[in-house]
Amino acid sequence: MALIVQKYGGTSVGNTDRIKNVARRVAEYRSRGDQVVVVVSAMSGVTDGLIKLAKDIAPLPSEREMDMLLATGEQQTIALTAIALHSLDVPAVSLTGAQAGIVTDGVHTKAKIHNITPKKVRELLNQGNVVIVAGFQGETPEGQITTLGRGGSDLTAIALAAALKADLCQIYTDVDGVYTADPRIVKDAKKLEEISYDEMLELASLGAKVMQSRSVEFAKKFAVVFEVRSSLNDNPGTIVKEETKSMEDVMVRGVSLDKNQAKVTLVGVPDKPGVAARIFKALGDATVNVDMIVQNISHGSGVPATDLSFTVDKPDLLKAQKVIDGLKKELGFRDVISTEKIGKLSIVGVGMKSHTGVAGKLFETLANEGVNVDMISTSEIKISVVIDLAKGESAMKAIHAAFIGN
Ligand code: ASP
Ligand code: MG
Repeated sequence: MALIVQKYGGTSVGNTDRIKNVARRVAEYRSRGDQVVVVVSAMSGVTDGLIKLAKDIAPLPSEREMDMLLATGEQQTIALTAIALHSLDVPAVSLTGAQAGIVTDGVHTKAKIHNITPKKVRELLNQGNVVIVAGFQGETPEGQITTLGRGGSDLTAIALAAALKADLCQIYTDVDGVYTADPRIVKDAKKLEEISYDEMLELASLGAKVMQSRSVEFAKKFAVVFEVRSSLNDNPGTIVKEETKSMEDVMVRGVSLDKNQAKVTLVGVPDKPGVAARIFKALGDATVNVDMIVQNISHGSGVPATDLSFTVDKPDLLKAQKVIDGLKKELGFRDVISTEKIGKLSIVGVGMKSHTGVAGKLFETLANEGVNVDMISTSEIKISVVIDLAKGESAMKAIHAAFIGN
C-alpha cells in the first residue's frame, strides 16, 4: 500500500465534469489499495476573478482581507471534489489548510510554511478516507488565514508529501509534463523525461509556468521526488529529482519566456554609497520581489549620476512605484520610467557548467533575429535577457531551434 499525494491544478478542476474526472482518477488509485491525499487549486479563473472584484473596489486592498477572500476559491473545490467522490461511493473528507495542520508565518498573500502537523490527515486516511486538502492556504499560529503566493497549491502538495513521507507525489496539470519550451508557442518543443530540481527551479521562476518556484525549492530541500503529468490522459509525465551526472551532457534543457515582469528605471540617481541600499531595502520592506538589477556607468559633471533599472513581478509594479515615489525627495533622482512591455527570455541547463560558447551562441542568434538586449543576468546554469515583449515569442522560437533543434 502506497501513500500518494496528488495535486490537481485549476484547469484540472475547471468545471464539474473535470472535477468528476479527478474523482474517477482518485477512486482508481484508491481501489488499488493506495492511500490518497488530494490537494486542489481553485477552479481556473476563480482566483483571478476574486482579485478583480477586490481591485474594482480598491487598487491596493488590505492583504489580510485578500487572503480571507482568496482562500474561499480552494474551499469551493475541496467540497465539490469530496461530493464527487461520495457519488462514486468513495469515502472522502475535505480539509482547509488550517484543518490539515499547515502553519505559516504572517506575511499575508506570500506566507511561508513554518511547519505541518498532519495529524488529522493521517487519522482520516487510516479510517479509509480520501483526504482532500485546500491548496494555497494555511493559518498563522494566531489563527489568521494566509495564502502561499500565486500557484501556492503546488507548495501545499509538496510540503504535505514531505510531512507525510509520501511514496509518490504527482502534480497534475493541463500539460503532459515539462517541455523544452512552452509547446503552445514553440511547435517543436519536446517533453522531458526528467529534469533536475535546479533546472526546474530556473524554468519555474522564469515563466515556464508549470509550477510555483517556491514549491520546487521546497522539494529540493526535502528531497521530494515528484512527477508533473496531465490529468486529461494517462501519458507518463516528467520526473523532477536530484541532478545526475548524465544530465550534464545536454547543453540547454529548456527555453522560457517570462511575460510577467515589469521594468522600473530611475533616471539620474546620485551615484554615492547607500543609495542602492536605501532603494532595495525599501522595496524589500514592502515585500516587493526584485529580480534583475542593472546600474549604468556614472555620467554628468558635478555630483555623478547614474541610471538604475530593476524588474519586478507585474502585479507588484504599483506597489514598487509607490515605494519609489516615496523616496524621490530623499534621494533626489530625476525621473522614473516604468514599462510592462518587456519579456525575459532564458536558457537553462546544468550542461552549461561544462560546455563553453553558450552565451556567444545565444547573442548571435538574437542578433540574427534583430532583437536588442536590454538587460542580462546569468547563473551557473542559466542566461536570461530582457528584451522587447513584442519580439519575445519569435526570439524564443529562434533560440529553441538553435539550441534544442527541431
Ligand atoms: N488558486 C491559487 C492561484 O490561482 C493557487 C493555485 O492555483 O495554486 O494562484
Ligand atoms: Mg494554479
